[in-house]
Amino acid sequence: MKQNIRHLSLEEIQEQFIELGEPKFRAGQIWQWLWQKGAPGFHEMTNLPKAFREKLESHYDVYKMSVSDRQLSSDKTIKCGFKLYDGEFVEGVLIPQEDRMTACISSQVGCSLTCSFCATARLPRKRNLFYDEIYDQVDLINRMALDAYGTRLSNIVFMGMGEPLLNYNQVMKAIERITAEDGLGMSPKRITVSTAGIAKMIRKLGEDEVKFNLALSLHAANDEKRNKIMPINETNSLSALMDALIYFYDKTGTRITYEYVMLKDENDTLQDARELSAFARQIPSKINLIEYNPIENGLYEKSSGNAMHRFKDMLEQNGCIVNIRRSRGQDIDAACGQLANKQLSSL
Ligand code: SAH
Repeated sequence: MKQNIRHLSLEEIQEQFIELGEPKFRAGQIWQWLWQKGAPGFHEMTNLPKAFREKLESHYDVYKMSVSDRQLSSDKTIKCGFKLYDGEFVEGVLIPQEDRMTACISSQVGCSLTCSFCATARLPRKRNLFYDEIYDQVDLINRMALDAYGTRLSNIVFMGMGEPLLNYNQVMKAIERITAEDGLGMSPKRITVSTAGIAKMIRKLGEDEVKFNLALSLHAANDEKRNKIMPINETNSLSALMDALIYFYDKTGTRITYEYVMLKDENDTLQDARELSAFARQIPSKINLIEYNPIENGLYEKSSGNAMHRFKDMLEQNGCIVNIRRSRGQDIDAACGQLANKQLSSL
């Protein structure tokens, strides 16, 4: 297999070009094509001499991922299937809203966690994505946003397939490229990494003083209940998570977002709301209440509108900042927790 040129640093490309007898400045040109213009291959790098492009092609590959499938929801959400260089698939979603254009992207092929309400949890974790594959989802969804809606992406959420904090290094590198001046130049304040809660890695985000936002998929603020729906809680208890979050907040000053999927009669009682507010009040935060999206042979039902509003009122009475998040793309299985390569695996 040819070397993946995007796995080289600018300095490494410079060194290799010198060995190939090419002037050093060519490395800068290539770098720009790779990371600012998102070129799919050397052929497209039209300001480079043809002979040079052919030479590059004989040594390297860009391994750009391709869009293998697209589905449009009645609410204008677009779900994309992406085919990776080794034949694996991941999914990403473009979510147009009035005031923002959000890409929801994946960090792993499948997922190693086994949250009981999530469709992705039923896929085996096949492998981590490389940082160029994470970057490609943003680049390709950005192009789609421009094509379909005439607007660039404004926000990115790592809420697709996989657990981003179990692919820490590649996620960090991808965010570096997405936010870099010589990359896509997006603001880290408009990026949110969502985790099911890996305490050690939340701490690491604090140590690394990251500038992006952190969301914790909480879904229960009581260890017994949380163990039941999110087995990862057995080794990352609520108190371990809170210690890590306090550390993260001290280091970054960034308010945490708690995601809370409302499951009928499982986690939607007023007692659950009281436990949630007690947990959330420990550091500056906001809470997103999410409607449960049905999955095939799912164990749960969504809470009624009434139950959600009562829950929200109780949280607010206890001083929490709360939003009810409307679900998007449900009709095409593009909503939270529904990404399961369904269309693709049936091809
Ligand atoms: N592993 C990370 C990233 C995935 S984010 C994490 O857990 O945060 C996907 C979000 O959708 C998470 O908040 C997850 O809990 C939520 N989710 C999963 N299944 C869902 C479902 N059926 N309905 C609504 N939200 C769901």
